[in-house]
Amino acid sequence: MTMTEKSAVVDDLAKALRDVLGPDGLLTDARAMEPYGRELRGMFDALPAMVARPVSTDAVSQVVALCAAAGVGIVPQGGRTGLVGGGTAQPGAGQIVLSLERMNRILSIEPLDDTMTVEAGCVLADLQRAAQQADRLFPLSLGAEGSCQIGGNLSTNAGGINVLRFGNARDLVLGLEVVLADGRVWNGLRQLRKDNTGYDLKHLFIGAEGTLGIITRAVLKLFPRPRDVATAFIGVASPDAAITLLPRLRAASGERITSFELIERFPLEVALAHTPNTRDPLGEPHASYVLVELSSAQPGAGLSQVLEHSLDAAMDDGLVEDAVFASSDKEAEGFWRIREGIVWAQAHYGASIKHDVSIPVSRVPAFLQQADDAAERVVPGIRPCAFGHIGDGNIHYNLTGPAGMDDAEFLAHRPAINLAVHDVVAGLDGSISAEHGLGQLRRDDIQRYKSPLELELMWRLKDSLDPRAIMNPGKLLPPR
Ligand code: FAD
Repeated sequence: MTMTEKSAVVDDLAKALRDVLGPDGLLTDARAMEPYGRELRGMFDALPAMVARPVSTDAVSQVVALCAAAGVGIVPQGGRTGLVGGGTAQPGAGQIVLSLERMNRILSIEPLDDTMTVEAGCVLADLQRAAQQADRLFPLSLGAEGSCQIGGNLSTNAGGINVLRFGNARDLVLGLEVVLADGRVWNGLRQLRKDNTGYDLKHLFIGAEGTLGIITRAVLKLFPRPRDVATAFIGVASPDAAITLLPRLRAASGERITSFELIERFPLEVALAHTPNTRDPLGEPHASYVLVELSSAQPGAGLSQVLEHSLDAAMDDGLVEDAVFASSDKEAEGFWRIREGIVWAQAHYGASIKHDVSIPVSRVPAFLQQADDAAERVVPGIRPCAFGHIGDGNIHYNLTGPAGMDDAEFLAHRPAINLAVHDVVAGLDGSISAEHGLGQLRRDDIQRYKSPLELELMWRLKDSLDPRAIMNPGKLLPPR
């Protein structure tokens, strides 16, 4: 197609889209589109050809059908908090962004079914609040919950701080409605806890990062609201001690551990130095820390006593060096502020190179040791800043450059560092993306770690559900 023919296709498409979406539903002005082209870390910024902002499933369906007919790529977009460049267009590819931001209604809450039916553009924190108002818990919880959307959470199979107890986003869904790549709508909005009538299609779209279809509605699981919560900040000598503590607490609390987070000393110092209203919860420094939370729906379940007795015993056995218990919600929030502050505070130390990896829990200490050694070999003096959901084996293995090293010089080592760290992960049977997905950032890296057969099966699914390759082109799947 010549440039003139191409621009005629775009003009015709814009006109047809405006008819479907109305004047507020389609953005074509560069200034208005600029936020939709911005990626959180600035690594994958790109202005789309247009931004569609539908308000209904029917409108999404019509937009997709029109784009399919014109052969124009569509990038579904949620709250833009994804960290791998999945939600922005590819530069100069003429793709449109389809933002779900105006599809943000909670359609119903069904207390007897313990379910909630919602539109994909609902912000996660709004869903948590709505569940709470209905005396229920929607347990998905992560640092970006004030702006990420449930459609984005499902499309990335988000994890977060409660996976240990409640599972990933995938485990919290009973049904989905999806607009397919030809514009047809698959209504899989079931509320069933049991349904063995063949392939469970919803799981194809969960974690697909928008490459197979657009999630427009979901039926989510609700749980009883916690009535008793106990939180402690624990100093240990090593990650080894942390993972040895986990099964002990699990057994003592009867599986009521909701969160079990690791913070190494350096990230603790980073967070304390740059996060308002924080202080070191323990007097003396320790090599590693665990932030643990137990919760129960039973009022007065005695979790504080369980936690205190268990940690006393672990201290007697030399597993725990020191611990402090939150005596109020405010104090518990203070502990969590430190954990959540790490990501933002790290920016004060210059550029960083980040990895979101998953390792069998028992091998996390080996991973940390081997990855530190591997990174040090690539850049002597590099500063590992490791923290994360150690209870489910997910470590955010972030690396800050040596003190005084120029950002550009440090970032030039990114490919070599990624390779070194990911090879350690693979050697320990781990995954190079635990919860953030592949997007554009890890798309090519995955080729080295997945078998050719696994990649072929992924491509076959893509080809059968999106034969024209218009759904989020260039994301998740490495080139054939
Ligand atoms: P976006 O970033 O807009 O999109 C993400 C991907 O989903 C893109 O590929 C996009 O095309 C696709 N998509 C979006 N909506 C739809 C839809 N309706 N249908 C089909 N495809 C769609 N993630 C975790 O898992 N655990 C954490 O603990 C965590 N903590 C974070 C903390 C911070 C401070 C930040 C900034 C991010 C964190 N993240 C975490 C990453 C991010 O918040 C999640 O990946 C989140 O699920 C993305 O949701 P979103 O609405 O922002 O999606």
